[in-house]
Amino acid sequence: MSDYVKDLIAEVKAKNPAQPEFHQAVQEVAESLAIVFERHPEYRTAKILERIIEPERIITFRVPWVDDQGEIQINRGYRIEMNSAIGPYKGGLRFHPSVTLGILKFLAFEQVFKNSLTTLPMGGGKGGSDFDPKGKSDLKIMRFCQAFMSELFRHIGPDTDVPAGDIGVGGREIGFLFGQYKKLRNEFTGVLTGKGLNWGGSLIRPEATGYGSVYFASEMLNTKGKNLQGKVCLVSGSGNVAQYTVEKINELGGKVVTLSDSNGYIYDEKGIDKQKLAFVMELKNVRRGRMQEYVDKFKGSVYTPVDPKLDYNPLWNHKAECAFPSATQNEINGKDAQNLVKNGVYVVSEGANMPTTLDGVKVFLDAKILYGPGKAANAGGVATSGLEMTQNSMRLNWTREEVDTRLRMIMHSIHTSCVQMADRFGTPGNYVTGANIAGFLKVADAMMDQGVV
Ligand code: NDP
Repeated sequence: MSDYVKDLIAEVKAKNPAQPEFHQAVQEVAESLAIVFERHPEYRTAKILERIIEPERIITFRVPWVDDQGEIQINRGYRIEMNSAIGPYKGGLRFHPSVTLGILKFLAFEQVFKNSLTTLPMGGGKGGSDFDPKGKSDLKIMRFCQAFMSELFRHIGPDTDVPAGDIGVGGREIGFLFGQYKKLRNEFTGVLTGKGLNWGGSLIRPEATGYGSVYFASEMLNTKGKNLQGKVCLVSGSGNVAQYTVEKINELGGKVVTLSDSNGYIYDEKGIDKQKLAFVMELKNVRRGRMQEYVDKFKGSVYTPVDPKLDYNPLWNHKAECAFPSATQNEINGKDAQNLVKNGVYVVSEGANMPTTLDGVKVFLDAKILYGPGKAANAGGVATSGLEMTQNSMRLNWTREEVDTRLRMIMHSIHTSCVQMADRFGTPGNYVTGANIAGFLKVADAMMDQGVV
């Protein structure tokens, strides 16, 4: 690691205490960029990375609301407007009790590079709240969303900042948020993505992150003359990304044997086929139940609850060829990565954001497996959000086939950029350096053009 990168990481840690996820995300990118700074000292002189690391704006706000019992509740809301060099801020909202400033800063930082990779004109942002939607009535969710938007609406707009969903924010929440924005602003604009089809949404947006991550895996396999046909796949999570990852793997002939939620995971050796996936979708999206119910319904499958005493996740310790982490950050540690490689996994496509720790990433890179980092592999979601924005601006709707074809083309182009950039900077086959460098260069050049702002 160069002294410049070492000093930069040390400064980030000192200046942003108690934000380990943010430090981790910065470290991974900064290490990848060392070679770029060697070849292009002009980016160093212009302090481009230092400027990208410092959010352009952070908004935090109080979200007071009244629950079903008439009791007043107070949550904290955030929006991180990270970088607008190549377009309006764009990135999801996360509602989860684990949300902190550091988590949202890591997500916003990743988003800058990811959005740049999509080839679409979108800057990076992220937001959310420590609100826990789990087990809450629709009415409570609506009241919270309205309270949240009552402040957020002054900071966003179709040409300024366009939020979308993330953990805990799906179609239902986007609906309530959009309704409140429209009421306060008295205008119907494409200010959020992930909207319902009847009111400005795009076909394929719900599917896009999961589908995109599977397309990215297919692209990586294709470099070895292989495809997903007959491959055994491990998928974590059971939310939006996980569900459509399973759907696309099934369509392409693979077999998914695991799914999880924060309480535990299920292993189904026979595979989670179309009918079983329909059950999971109804369980998670309508009844909002727990994965454990799966084993009561489908005999032969096994449920394993989370064991906090373990220093590894048994979900990643099954024989398989592909893994699609699709739940949350740091769900694969060094030991999990070793277990995956040991069990025969040679394709990892990250649907979640930063699901692998730095130790785990090192294991994958040392083993030279096909490892697609989140900012490349899960960029299909935000790319299709970009396509939703385009359709909103043109005031027309593309067909399912049209959007899916564009999504597939974008994933192909992201894959090509990663491969080419990794080659150009002397790390062939390394999608981490490829994605970080390709994402960085476009934003860096725009910032150079626009002066010190
Ligand atoms: P959902 O809320 O739909 O689903 C999240 C899933 O992950 C649930 O199964 C949830 O279980 C599980 N999960 C969440 N937090 C934890 C935790 N701390 N420990 C264990 N399991 C957890 O979210 P998405 O599917 O939208 O998002 C999943 C990942 O994909 C996130 O990393 C997100 O940032 C990333 N992503 C999402 C995009 C999108 O378009 N939605 C785009 C790009 C990336 P439980 O129900 O028990 O909480």
